[in-house]
Amino acid sequence: MMLKVGDNGNFYDVPIRQSDIFLLPPHVRHSPQRPQEGSIGLVVEPKRPAGANDAFEWYCFNCQALVHRVEVSLKSIVKDLPPLYKAFYEDEKARTCPKCGTIHPGKQAPAGWVKL
Ligand SMILES: [Zn+2]
Repeated sequence: MMLKVGDNGNFYDVPIRQSDIFLLPPHVRHSPQRPQEGSIGLVVEPKRPAGANDAFEWYCFNCQALVHRVEVSLKSIVKDLPPLYKAFYEDEKARTCPKCGTIHPGKQAPAGWVKL
């Protein structure tokens, strides 16, 4: 899989191959991409302290500015994430880049964004 990592406004790729283990420091923006159907990755997350929120951010594919951010008290990735993503995908105003005006495509990243 390819882990997209954002660090201080710079975005880069971290390839994680079969049997690799990658330790990501806390609070680093990241987006795991698994374009190969049937691929499996195991992600171990620390237990969140009571009352801590998780944040989800979308960035502009054109200028890399922050397009949208949502903070939630996450109880279940399986139950809580799909509605959060769906709301973003269906809201064109939320998907409009405040810097350049490009509309974020939503679920489907531009072709070639993930290269394995
Ligand atoms: Zn932009």
